[in-house]
Amino acid sequence: YAKNKQGNAIQVFNSALLNTFKDNAEIERDLAMAVKCRQFELYYQPLKDLKKQAYIGAEALIRWHHPKKGVLYPGAFIDIAEQTGLITDIGAWVLEAACKQLNVWQHRQIDISMHVNVSARQFFSGSLFEHVWELISRYHLKPHSLILEITETELMGDIRFATTLCKELAELGVGLAIDDFGTGYSSMRYLKQFPITKLKIDRSFISDLSVSHESREIVSAIIAMASALNISLTAEGVETEEQELFLANNACHQAQGFLYSPAIREAEFGDFLESSAVIL
Ligand code: C2E
Ligand code: MG
Ligand code: MG
Ligand code: MG
Repeated sequence: YAKNKQGNAIQVFNSALLNTFKDNAEIERDLAMAVKCRQFELYYQPLKDLKKQAYIGAEALIRWHHPKKGVLYPGAFIDIAEQTGLITDIGAWVLEAACKQLNVWQHRQIDISMHVNVSARQFFSGSLFEHVWELISRYHLKPHSLILEITETELMGDIRFATTLCKELAELGVGLAIDDFGTGYSSMRYLKQFPITKLKIDRSFISDLSVSHESREIVSAIIAMASALNISLTAEGVETEEQELFLANNACHQAQGFLYSPAIREAEFGDFLESSAVIL
C-alpha cells in the first residue's frame, strides 16, 4: 500500500510540475541545455518472473533533474523531445547509459536483462543498428540481455524499414519488445512480420482486471496468443496481489509494477535485488 501511495503521489506531483513550464518553447530551451549539461538519470524498474519468483529484468526509465523544477518524468518532456528532434541525443544517451549499466551488472554476475525504450525517431534514424552493435561490442554484452521496447504504432510508421531493422537486430540477438501492447492499431499483422521476442501488456488492461470481464478475457487471449507464438510476455502496471494472482493463474509469467517496486536509482536497485534474494 505504501508503495502504491508513493507512486501515485509522485505522478500527481509531476503533472503539477508540468504546468509550471510557460510553454513548449521553454521546455525545448531547457531540454537542449539538459542534453549538454547531463541532467538526465536512468532509473530502473524491476521485472519479476512469477514462476521463478525472481527478478529477471529491469526497465530503464529516464528522469530529468531540472535545475529549478526538480525531478521531471518523461511524460513532461519526451513528446516535445520527439517533436523537436532532441530525442536523438537523449535516446543515444539513454541507450549508452543502459548498456554501461548492464555491463556493470554482468560483471557482478547479476543475470538480468535490460529493457530500453526506443522512440520512433530513434528507431527510424538509420543509425540505431550501428549504435546497438557498437555498444554491445564495447561493453561486451550478451546481446539477448538487451531488449529494445517500441510501441506498435511506432513500428508501423515505415513497415519496410522496420522489417529490415528488426531482422538485423534479431540476427544480432537483441530482443525486441512491443510496449503498451493492445493500445495500438494493427496488433496482429506485425506479429507475423517482425521477429518480436516479447509483448508488454498495457497497464490499462491490468488496472481493469478486477472490474472488467472484457479486460480479463482480453488478457487471457493475449496470454494464449503469446504462448502459441512462443513470444514472452510481461504484464505492465501490476499494483495488487489480486492482479498478480490472476496473471499467475493464467500463465502470464512476467510482471512489472508498483506492487514490486517503482523505478528506482541504480544504487537502490542493487539493494532491492539483494534484499529480495534473501526473502526467496
Ligand atoms: P512505458 O515504457 O510503458 O513505461 C512504464 C511506465 O509506467 C513508467 O512511467 C513507469 O514508472 C510506470 N509504471 C510502472 N509500474 C506502474 C504501476 O504499477 N502503476 C502505474 N500507475 N504506473 C506504473 P514513466 O517512467 O513515467 O515513463 C512513461 C513513459 O515514458 C514510458 O512508458 C516510456 O514510453 C517513456 N519513456 C521512459 N523512459 C524513456 C526513455 O528513456 N526513452 C524514451 N524514448 N521513452 C521513455
Ligand atoms: Mg517501456
Ligand atoms: Mg514505452
Ligand atoms: Mg508501457
